[in-house]
Amino acid sequence: MRTQMWMLIVMSWLAGTAELGSQPRSELEIQIIYDNTSAREDMGADWGFAALVTFRGHRVLFDSGAYPELFLENLKKMGVDPSSIEHAVISHHHMDHRSGIYQLYGQNPSMKVHFLDNFPVQAFEAADTIGMEPHRVMGSFQVVSGIYSTGIIEGSPPEQSLIIETAKGIVLLTGCCHPGVVKMVETVQKQRGKDSIHLLIGGLHMFMQNADQIKATIARLKQMNVATVIPAHCSGDLAKQLFQEAFGKGFDTAGAGRRIAPD
Ligand SMILES: [Zn+2]
Ligand SMILES: [Zn+2]
Repeated sequence: MRTQMWMLIVMSWLAGTAELGSQPRSELEIQIIYDNTSAREDMGADWGFAALVTFRGHRVLFDSGAYPELFLENLKKMGVDPSSIEHAVISHHHMDHRSGIYQLYGQNPSMKVHFLDNFPVQAFEAADTIGMEPHRVMGSFQVVSGIYSTGIIEGSPPEQSLIIETAKGIVLLTGCCHPGVVKMVETVQKQRGKDSIHLLIGGLHMFMQNADQIKATIARLKQMNVATVIPAHCSGDLAKQLFQEAFGKGFDTAGAGRRIAPD
């Protein structure tokens, strides 16, 4: 009995020192590959969005930018090997989110691509010409362990978001938020049975909204316990400023080249 207790003490001490010695690696990293702004001098900015999620050893791409050349160039500059990407989830059919996927697939044909079932026929025809057979997403599904798509959220156009269930809570990655960010968050909380969001990151589509409209949305997001926000892409400068004022330390900037480790 006593020996067993000592062994437990020694083992927990060893585990503790091992963790101190080598920085514990975050279980989640999000790399922003394509964005309206750039966080690195050597990386180009352009209207569009793409982010790469690395979570518990899995790699999932979310959106693929507007210009395939810039998308692939930025991916390379961030040191990403295209063959390491297992899945690509495309939020909605707009070209600033979908264009890069076809050329990337040419470099990694074993990648599983997820389009919404209601993408225009041209999106599927372009896939067909290169032998890509996208999964036609309808409802919510698990992409890899701990990462889910919301499935189709109705809007103009309809959109899917990516949910990452981390130890600290839900990380929600959005493309353009055409259905509205409040609707996206509501849907996610209902689907996952949670009443908070640890991090909301992506395009929030508020670039045409005035301060009152943006403030009303911020108030609603706070009510829904959104803890931290990183507005990207089509969020707009005014929204970014108002989110920063409202969230303080819970706000951070996006931009191509950013690496985000939320936990
Ligand atoms: Zn869009
Ligand atoms: Zn967009």
